Amino acid sequence: MILSKAQSKGGLLKNVKQQFNKAADLMNLDQGVRKILQINNNEIVVHFPVRMDNGEIEIFKGFRVQHNNALGPYKGGLRYHETIDMDASSALASWMTWKTSLARLPFGGAKGGVQFNPALYSQAEVERVTRRFTYAMGDNIGPEYDIPAPDVNTTPQTMAWIADTYMSTKGPDERAKSQHIVTGKPVGAGGLEGRDRATGFGVVVNIKEWANYTGQSLVGKRFIVQGFGKVGYWAAHYLSKEGAIMVGVQDESASLYTEDGIDVETLFNYSRANNFSIAGFSGAMHIADEDFFALNCDICIPAALGNQITIENAHLIKASLIAEGANGPVDPEADEILIERGITIIPDILCNSGGVIGSYFEWLQNRNGELWGVDMVLNKLENYIIDSYRRVMTRAEEYKTDARSAAYIEAIARIEVAYKQMGIFP
Ligand code: GLU
Repeated sequence: MILSKAQSKGGLLKNVKQQFNKAADLMNLDQGVRKILQINNNEIVVHFPVRMDNGEIEIFKGFRVQHNNALGPYKGGLRYHETIDMDASSALASWMTWKTSLARLPFGGAKGGVQFNPALYSQAEVERVTRRFTYAMGDNIGPEYDIPAPDVNTTPQTMAWIADTYMSTKGPDERAKSQHIVTGKPVGAGGLEGRDRATGFGVVVNIKEWANYTGQSLVGKRFIVQGFGKVGYWAAHYLSKEGAIMVGVQDESASLYTEDGIDVETLFNYSRANNFSIAGFSGAMHIADEDFFALNCDICIPAALGNQITIENAHLIKASLIAEGANGPVDPEADEILIERGITIIPDILCNSGGVIGSYFEWLQNRNGELWGVDMVLNKLENYIIDSYRRVMTRAEEYKTDARSAAYIEAIARIEVAYKQMGIFP
């Protein structure tokens, strides 16, 4: 399991509200729709007991926030982390609403998880937590209603346990139709080829579009990545394929730097053999954690937790591009500083949308009884992201605003149309 060294400092909900209000003002959003989008449709909190390996009972707390479903079933990941609470789930659920709308998917937004650190538990315990959490959620999730997926510290294995538990508690007919209750499953259990790399691949499609727009080549560009898990590693993998050089990496265990570049695959193999951490890697220098974001580079990819780039370090950033692999890695104060300094940010709801777009493909594949190949998946994914990127750039020009606000406007506009056409019951 890979986590960022720095911990999310909380306050994510405040950030998303600020971002939303800025866009809503700019686009002169309908007042009624504005009220609706400021609240969560449903907020679910569950407490459940799990027997530990030593025979004792421990109580766990789980969350699922269903922010909005005007465009389709609720969709979004489950996070296993001590910082997951109602505030974080709400912020992350709203980001899912904007993300799915921006990508033009027929989904709404949700998020949740269980408040614990799975690294402190055995695999058998994590399995029991997962299965019991799924049971506690009951019919608050469903393949046509609310479809979870992986997020921080949850994996294809976690999704397989959720699918198995959900299907095991249903009658034969419903069971047979429920494989798409979660996405991000292992390929052998109905998962999509390429879903594992979808987010990181999508981050690089965005970076390639940025290079196209600004008339630059990625060959020889230097990049740093925070988080070397499923998003950070794959982004580094695909970006180095474009000829860019990874000069810095940070995870929960260490911060690494080398002027000449760190070989992505060598570090990947090392970290997998070293309990998923990069500490002790001999192919780079170990540096102080607080020096990480000040490293000399062209592209910075925060791909771990929220609130990593703040008023404390925004002025130190040397990169000319920040590609948000994580959700909410740049807080609104830092956003302003970076915009003022002329640094481009590809916002999370665009930059990391490859994950949920891949999830959509998996959902369709399961629903239609199809099997898609990896080339088709990555090709389609690329088209979706390029399309989103261009629509965001058009909005940025139209409203003379930054990419984040433009992405919000593009996302919210689609939901506004849906409400205007459907009306409000009764
Ligand atoms: N957790 C991912 C995200 O934040 C993926 C969500 C999904 O695939 O539903 O976008």
